[in-house]
Amino acid sequence: MQAKKKYGQNFLINQNIINEITNLINPNENDLLIEIGPGQGALTKYLAQKKSKLICIEIDKDMHAYLDKFENENCHIIYDDILSTNLKDITINFDKIFVIGNLPYYITSPIIEYLINNLKAEKMIFMVQKEVANRYCAEINTKDYGYFTLYLRYFYNVKKEIFVSKDNFRPIPKVDSMVISLTKRNDTPSVSKKLYFNFLKEAFSHKRKTLKNNIKSYDFNKVKEVLNKYNLSDNVRAENIRENIYIDIVNNLDN
Ligand code: SAH
Repeated sequence: MQAKKKYGQNFLINQNIINEITNLINPNENDLLIEIGPGQGALTKYLAQKKSKLICIEIDKDMHAYLDKFENENCHIIYDDILSTNLKDITINFDKIFVIGNLPYYITSPIIEYLINNLKAEKMIFMVQKEVANRYCAEINTKDYGYFTLYLRYFYNVKKEIFVSKDNFRPIPKVDSMVISLTKRNDTPSVSKKLYFNFLKEAFSHKRKTLKNNIKSYDFNKVKEVLNKYNLSDNVRAENIRENIYIDIVNNLDN
């Protein structure tokens, strides 16, 4: 069968890597494991052997030919767009939720945002484009450190797990990949989510500008108070400010 470009289909063929990825997640009997984009079942084959229930969500109905054999009382395949799947309905009655997927790269970030907004997953394992992993896991003072880095970090500890070069897929994509893990934080920062994310969006809106010039809709005097406390200059850039300082800034705006 011809892989469909419009669905971002690149099938993983290296069994060692498939093993390594599926070993990153080990749910218990009363947990639920969700696989996004099972495709021809490369990961599904191993995930179906785990202790928990497995629900796979695949947009391409042509994959019936590969996936029907996995259907049983512990494994169910839903043919739907993950971005319009009602996750609340399928995830009730489980202890913990785990998510795994070699994600279609054209909608990686929308999928992760959708999952964050609609699920409280304990741990998520994703194959993403290497450059995207660099942004998600970026360190402070780098050009990759941005809104999405801090957005993800608010909910999860994000970690690079396995580098996967492009020749491990068929068809071979243009880019290399990285498997990342997102593990739920138990020290979520204490701040209004809405205010925090809105502030970060503005702070990082123009990479070349200073923080001050990006956040015109806020009272810079209040921001400055916190910057000074940490010995940061008024001309600091968004990429040079760490999470706890952002939290302080946003909490100070609130007063
Ligand atoms: N897990 C397989 C396939 C990865 S390719 C493997 O590792 O080999 C990405 C998969 O996601 C494809 O099967 C594609 O059809 C599916 N997909 C693409 N967009 C999707 C969407 N919006 N919702 C659910 N699945 C999607």
